Amino acid sequence: MKVLVIGSGGREHAIVWKLAQSRVVDKIYCVPGNAGISDLAECIEIENKDLSGLVDFVKYEWIDLTVVGPEDPLAKGIVDTFQKEGRKIIGPTKAAAQLESSKVFAKEFMKRHKIPTAEYKVFTSYTHAEEYIRLKGTPIVVKANGLAAGKGVFVCHRYEEAIEALKLIMKEKIFGSAGDKVVIEEYLQGKEASYLVFTDGKNIVSMVTSKDHKRLLDNDEGPNTGGMGTFSPNPIITAELEKEIIETIIKPTIRGLKSEGIVYKGILYAGLMIVNNKPYVLEFNCRFGDPETQVILPRLETDLVDIFMAITEQKLNKIDVKWKDKSSLCVILASEGYPGKYKKELPIKGLEMVKRLKDVIVFHAGTKFDENGRVVTNGGRVLGVTALGKDIKEARQKAYSAVELIHFEGMQYRKDIGLNI
Ligand code: AMP
Repeated sequence: MKVLVIGSGGREHAIVWKLAQSRVVDKIYCVPGNAGISDLAECIEIENKDLSGLVDFVKYEWIDLTVVGPEDPLAKGIVDTFQKEGRKIIGPTKAAAQLESSKVFAKEFMKRHKIPTAEYKVFTSYTHAEEYIRLKGTPIVVKANGLAAGKGVFVCHRYEEAIEALKLIMKEKIFGSAGDKVVIEEYLQGKEASYLVFTDGKNIVSMVTSKDHKRLLDNDEGPNTGGMGTFSPNPIITAELEKEIIETIIKPTIRGLKSEGIVYKGILYAGLMIVNNKPYVLEFNCRFGDPETQVILPRLETDLVDIFMAITEQKLNKIDVKWKDKSSLCVILASEGYPGKYKKELPIKGLEMVKRLKDVIVFHAGTKFDENGRVVTNGGRVLGVTALGKDIKEARQKAYSAVELIHFEGMQYRKDIGLNI
């Protein structure tokens, strides 16, 4: 089989890494990929937005299956375009992807189907939104409706912060039309967890649990980022809680969409807040999480292509998905200045040394080759260093030992991934 993976981050490197182990995959392409991915796949430059260019490439190369990493192409309808051309692709249609691409759609959908989530109100008028914040007081959460590269959510502990967030979204339009509507919602205090499933629109297969660390600095301080580290399993998700997540959130979501004429196929990711042992949905994502994928896929034993084919054929109930009875932990190495401005093209040292370590995988995110063939930085999040161990403690020790061997100028990372669990 020939497979195409769309994307360029650590998540896509993890997907490519797992697909490369498949007994049925002969060749992998990645659009656009990165330096690490190019060890396993042929990297091709096509704009992710260029849906017809992507379809043409798939037809020309006789590619059997396409896997979409990021949310943008899904929100733009890449799956609909591919399906019209009779091409196999993993991910939800544009209508189904609204669960992620529109917070208003997601909140109203959850309300219709009684899926537990924070109380909220939607506003198109700045004045009314401001009035509501004054009435409700803080803490309060202000969210831009549309996709904002993970930056559209403001958790506000002071009135002035909430008003500032509202101004940025609705008046200054820092996210463009993604800020035409805002969701203002109740602040939930609890512990966060990520819960991902594979689904074919009828059946679901849960992935192992994980926990993301969104804040830049140790002890969950500093600004929100795309994710600074993650580990799996997440011990706060007990078997009982997992059952509740499936029964009150995952199944009603798939069923609810179906009742509205939308068959959801692909990966469904629920970002949860666990409050007094009860799960509430903070957000839905319609694809693999990054960096969660970097700890989930190393624990997967089953051939990923078998799972993907079962999704396209609506036969997920026919396969027995197996996971390694191990823990995994990933530390993100980021550029100095991230999530703000950062330098690029800084040489990365130590990668060859880390390749020799057992149970350690370095997933590349913002990396590329310079003209001398050296691997250099090319983004905010640069590498994800993942290790497997018999428990989180061992995985943590192995991952941080590997991190010690890697260096680039200004490299920053959290020291407390998996420490206080
Ligand atoms: P989201 O993109 O909606 O998951 O929000 C990003 C982050 O904001 C989450 O991971 C939480 O840390 C925080 N957050 C979002 N909604 C709420 C809420 N209602 N209460 C407390 N924190 C929230």
